[in-house]
Amino acid sequence: MTDYYGKDISLDEILLHVRPGWHPLITTLVEDLGKLGWDGQVCQVKEKFGGLRFYIGAKSDEIQLRITEAEKQSYKICEICGEPGILVKLGWLMTRCPEHSKT
Ligand SMILES: [Zn+2]
Repeated sequence: MTDYYGKDISLDEILLHVRPGWHPLITTLVEDLGKLGWDGQVCQVKEKFGGLRFYIGAKSDEIQLRITEAEKQSYKICEICGEPGILVKLGWLMTRCPEHSKT
């Protein structure tokens, strides 16, 4: 994979942008995008308003659909631990399981 500037980056570097609960979600997404003919360019990966954002360069409709699916799934997965979660507002919006919703 490559970053916005065309520099090689690893999956581990991409995963660093979100917390561990979402790492399996992104790993599966990257595998699926590879099968759909994705060129591997990642522009930005982050959490925003409680959900995953996965921005890439040129993409087909099929690839965009798969990314949108993963972004929607992220709202149901605790970003900390990967257990089922919901969108909660703890100062700001985040997706958390009951355990990690405690302040
Ligand atoms: Zn959790």
